[in-house]
This record gives sequence, C-alpha cells and structure tokens, in this order.
Amino acid sequence: MYAQVVVDIQNDAVDRVFDYVALTNTQIGMRVSVPFANRTILGYVIGLSNETNFDKNKIKPLKANLEMVPKLKKEVLELCKFMSNHFFLRLSDCIRLALPSCVRLDSEHAQLDYSLSLIYDVETAINIIGKRAKSQLSAVAYLNDHGEEKFSKMVELFGRSSLNSLIEKGIVSKNSTRRMRKPEVENVKIKKNILTKAQQNAVNQIINDKGVFLLHGVTGSGKTEIYMNVIENALNNGKTAIMLVPEISLTPQMMQRFNSRFPGLVAVLHSGLSEGERFDEWERIFSGEARVVLGARSAIFAPVENVGAIIIDEEHDSSYVSENNPRFFTHDVAEFRANYNACPLVLGSATPSLESFKKAKDGQYKLISLKERVNNLEMPKIEIVDMLNEVLDGNTSPYSKKLIAKLDECINNKKQAILFINRRGFASFVMCRDCGYRAKCDDCEVSLVYHKEDNQLKCHFCGKRYRMLTNCPNCNSTNIKYGALGTERVCNDLQKMFPNVPIFRMDNDTTRGKNGHKHILEQFAATSPSILVGTQMIAKGHDYPLVSFVGILDADVSLYNSDFKSNERTFQLVTQVAGRAGRANNDGYVVLQTYAPKHYVYRFASNYDYNSFFEKEINLRQTTGFPPFSTIVRILISSVSDNRAIEVTKKLYDNALKLKDKYGKQILFMQAMPSPVKRIQTKYRYQILTRFTPNEDILNDLFTIADVIEKDVSIFVEINPNNLR
Ligand code: ADP
Ligand code: ZN
Ligand code: ZN
Repeated sequence: MYAQVVVDIQNDAVDRVFDYVALTNTQIGMRVSVPFANRTILGYVIGLSNETNFDKNKIKPLKANLEMVPKLKKEVLELCKFMSNHFFLRLSDCIRLALPSCVRLDSEHAQLDYSLSLIYDVETAINIIGKRAKSQLSAVAYLNDHGEEKFSKMVELFGRSSLNSLIEKGIVSKNSTRRMRKPEVENVKIKKNILTKAQQNAVNQIINDKGVFLLHGVTGSGKTEIYMNVIENALNNGKTAIMLVPEISLTPQMMQRFNSRFPGLVAVLHSGLSEGERFDEWERIFSGEARVVLGARSAIFAPVENVGAIIIDEEHDSSYVSENNPRFFTHDVAEFRANYNACPLVLGSATPSLESFKKAKDGQYKLISLKERVNNLEMPKIEIVDMLNEVLDGNTSPYSKKLIAKLDECINNKKQAILFINRRGFASFVMCRDCGYRAKCDDCEVSLVYHKEDNQLKCHFCGKRYRMLTNCPNCNSTNIKYGALGTERVCNDLQKMFPNVPIFRMDNDTTRGKNGHKHILEQFAATSPSILVGTQMIAKGHDYPLVSFVGILDADVSLYNSDFKSNERTFQLVTQVAGRAGRANNDGYVVLQTYAPKHYVYRFASNYDYNSFFEKEINLRQTTGFPPFSTIVRILISSVSDNRAIEVTKKLYDNALKLKDKYGKQILFMQAMPSPVKRIQTKYRYQILTRFTPNEDILNDLFTIADVIEKDVSIFVEINPNNLR
C-alpha cells in the first residue's frame, strides 16, 4: 500500500504529493514522519492507494505514524483540498490552518493530575511492608483514612522515595486524570427569552431548509437569540454547530450567553487563548465532548462532525477575509462545509456586505429581514452635526456643542456613553510649524503617532518606538504641531470636562494581555455614569443596557480612506456604533460629527435605510465597474532592495500586459505602481493592480504569473483587498 503524503514545508518547489510505502495502520488524515532529502520531516497522509506512478524500487517507507487516530478528519481534509483549489493555496498551508500548531507539532500535551490510592486492604499492606519502614506505613494509614489523595500532596507529607517503593511493591496505585485548561468565562445564568413572532418565523424557516440564509436584522432585533435557537435545534437532532463571530475575545458577553444556554457543550477557539487552552479546547471538540464551537474565523476548520448549523455573525466584518498568507474568504469555506453536511448556513448582520445582499436579491441566498428591535424598542435617533458650522460659530474644538450637551445630559441621568474615534494614540503625527519637518519611521514610509502616556512616538505599522520631540531636529524650533486627535487625547479632554466621571478607553494599546478587553468592558458595565472611548473595537456586538448616548467624533476618516469599499465600510461603522445606544430603553441618542453632512452614506445611515443605501451604492459599483461587478487583483511585490523590487515588478508587469491582448475588454484596468505605503518594515513595496470582469481564467493566469520564486523578493496576491496600503 502506498501513502500519498503532503510534506510540511513552506516552499513552492515541494508543493506536490509524494508517495511512500505505508506502514501497518497508516490511515488517511494521519500525521506521519517521512524521510525527505536526508532529513526526517512531518507530513500528512492525504490518500492511500495500491498503485503508484513512481518507480516502485525507489519509494521509501514512512518513518512512523505519529498518531493512532487521524487528527485530520475526512471532512476537514476535503475542506483543505477544496481551499487549495479554490484559493490557489498550497495544500500544506491549508492543513496548517486546520490543525493549530500545538496539535500539529505536538508542542502541547495533555496535562495530567496524579493521585494515589491503596490496592490492598490496610492489613495486607502492613504485612507486605513490614514494621521498619515507618513513613511507608504512615502513608498507607493516611490513604486508608482519606481514600484517594493527590500525588503532590502525598510527596509533601511522606517523601518521594517511600511512595515510589509503595508503588513498586504494588501496594499503591498511581492514577492519572486529565486536567482540562478552560478559558475563563463567568458563570451567569441568562434566562431564555420567548421568541417574538418574527424571531420564531426566522428560526422555522432556517431549520426546515438548507442552503444559505442572509439574516438582515437591525441592531437589537434579536439575531443572537435566533442563532441560539437554530443551534439548539441542531443539538436536539444529535448534530453539532459552528458559530463564528468577528473576534470573540471582544465580546465576552457572547461567551456567557452561549455557556448559559449550552452548559458544558461549548468550546471557544480564538487568538486570545493560551496554547494549553487552545490544545484542550481543540481536543474537546475532536473527541466530541464539545458540540458547539464558538470562535473567530479559524474556528471554521474545527474538527466537529455531523454539523447541523453554521452561523457567521456580523457577516460583513472584514476579519472574515484573512489578509495574510494563506489568504481565504471564510464565507466560501463555510459554504463548502454547509454543503458537505447538507445543513443551513446563516449569515447575519444589521449591515450585510453589498456582495451578500446582492446574492440575496439575485436569489442565491434566502433573505430573512427583521425590521424592528425586540420589546418594541425604537432605533436611537441619529443627529448629524456639521462641523464646519461649529468652526464658523467659533467652536474650533473637536467636540460640537450638541455632543457636549448630550453627553452632559447622559451623565446627569446616571447613564453611560460611548464615544467612537477610529484612531489610537494622542495625535496622528507631530510636525514642525516652522520648517514643515514631520517625524517619520526609519523603516516605514509613514508618520509617527504621538502617545502621550509613554511620551513616545510610535510607528503603527512596525511598532518601533522613538523619543518624543522637544524641538525640531531640522531647525531646532520648539513650535511643534500635533496631528488629528486619537483615543488618548479624547480621554484626556473628557477627564478635564467631567472630572468626576470614570472614563474607560478601549483600543489596541489598552487591551493587551489575555483578558484585556474583558476587564475594561466589565468595569464599564459595572459603573454608571461612565464613558467608554474606543476604536472600532467598541462597535462589535456589545449589549449594555445603560448606554444611552453614542458620539461618533470623526467618521470622515473612514469615508475618505480611498478604496472602493470606503462608503460601504463607513455605512456599516456608523450603523453598528449607533446600534450600541438605547438597547433596553427608548432613550438612545447618537451624534454624528462630520464635514460632509449631506453625504448619502450619512443620510441613509441616519435613517437606518439600508435598502436605499444598497441601491445607490450597487448602482455606483455597476457604473464604475467595481466589485461585485468586477474582480480586483493586486500583486504586491516587496523587497529590502528597491532595485530588485522594481526589477521584478517590471518583469511581472510585462507578463501581465500580455493578458490584455488575450482577454481584451474584459480587463478593465491594469497598472504597475508603488504601493500607497511605499515602505514597511524596511521593505520597498510595489503593486500591479488589475481590475477585470469576473472570470476564473484571468484569475488563474494572474496567479500563474505571480507564482514565481525570485531571490530576496516576496510576491503576494490579493483578491478584492479590503485595505490597500
Ligand atoms: P442582535 O444580535 O440582533 O443585536 P440580540 O440577540 O443581542 O440582538 O438581542 C438584543 C437584546 O434583546 C438582548 O439583550 C436580548 O437578550 C434581548 N432579546 C432578544 N430576543 C428577545 C425576546 N424574544 N424577548 C425579550 N428579549 C429579547
Ligand atoms: Zn523645524
Ligand atoms: Zn515603522
């Protein structure tokens, strides 16, 4: 029997299947060690066959099977094969996604607790030991009294050597039990709500059907409640479920709700786990003990079997597209799994991505709409404030009079407020007013951000830190200008305005550490009045009943972030952030500050008019030829050597231009240029940007063009990139 093996090396040259002679018990999906070019390396068996196309005399046997039960279950292996074809990825990279490194590399192990107990009755034991070994006798007497005791405790009491001789003589047995490392979750009992009619209809529609559902429900319409009922139904049918959320560590509330509803059955998988926790959670899923997987994007690879429902919450969120290698779209992977299991896939959002909503309109997805909040709650009023008027009125501060008045009112009512500013730090840049010098990173072509707390300048691209300027290194002037405000500055200002009100900050700087988010959110939830200032982290799924006011300080940042998705992203952001207000009482109020008050994004967002926004935006995309009516591909070429990067860019571009002849008008745009950020982490960056009417062949050709190995240069292909930089 021959085993077809994919080796675990990240190298294009070995991206193929190798044949080895299988060992007894070698099974498909097993990790194996194989001889490979004078080394022994890790491999995965992806097939078994009696035939081989290679020279039978030259085929070597596998070195060893690394497990008894294959870690890659059949479905997951099929999934990896699908991904490899669908996203032009190496199969070994897909397998790496499916098996977390602690499992793949055996870097973690089950943690065992040892205990001792008597095998014989106490008289027999004493007879065997004899009268002289005092501490052995005491140990036996102790175990006779206590039954079982922890090994470590026994060592403390009686010493290791006497215990070892008891074990050797067969008087005492050493027992092991596995200790599971579990991520910390508060045990709160949350009552199960009786579904509203709209919710019940949605649940019925989903559980009696399969295919893809787009659940479009305004914020607070009870989508999570629907997900939980769909999952409950799957469990009752003996099946399992996968629920994806943008970043679960951001929403400890979701974990509590799930744990309360499905006690003992939920496993979480996300980036905030320790390696040990991840290992144990993965094993709980693998063994079938946990039947509901709750996690971020990579949880879609969880080794559950017999899946009865897959849910992608906040389906529009950009975290579902992995930006790094290997690049993939979670929706496609989820759809494959749903098909494989003939189960429903639910995409839920208050602001679906244009692409998903279009699919629903075209009949590819089944659309379910929830137009109202539960408990007859109204959507919070969104008031647009024109910041130009403020300036003309003599208010040059970043806070409008309306915002301050509403904040004041909220605080006086002992409620909570959330202020959103999508920029961290104190000031987005520092520059000299006299000569125009601007502090930049040595390694990246970007301005440094001022962080007042540590009195440092930080590069937000590579993390490098610099001393703050006291005077200009160029002209020695002390006349320093600060750039646009960030979360740190807002907290500073608010503390001056409301000296007695607790102010919390949630951004990348304050949420480091394992339970960073959780602690801030817990403190905020337990304090009123209080103010939470944060970046887009605060937009996601939080459900705090006391929040009555939401202030959006500067939405224009996202609006003018010039890529084809900036309108869509801004609409989503405004709607989601606003949706945090008034979730338990009809007192929600939102102030949105902008210099473009008439922009249709704000007009539709402030009326919660998703449908009109969709119509307007989709028309724009169609007339201008942008996704989903076209596909954008960017080939990113980067190198420490500027010349090498340019050289390779030219070479690839010459090849790409040939596609223009081949496909003619189908190629809407093709150009080579420096990337928007010309240098990151000492690497110079160039891009070949192509836009074409959706066509698998063109895509294939572009990947082939980019699939070359160039010394000192890395080449990376992105489809419809979310963020060009
Ligand atoms: P969404 O996910 O759409 O934002 P949630 O499921 O979080 O909405 O529901 C919003 C709030 O309403 C939550 O506090 C939830 O407990 C509550 N809720 C949801 N469904 C019901 C219901 N049928 N009856 C009463 N309260 C409900
Ligand atoms: Zn200067
Ligand atoms: Zn840098």
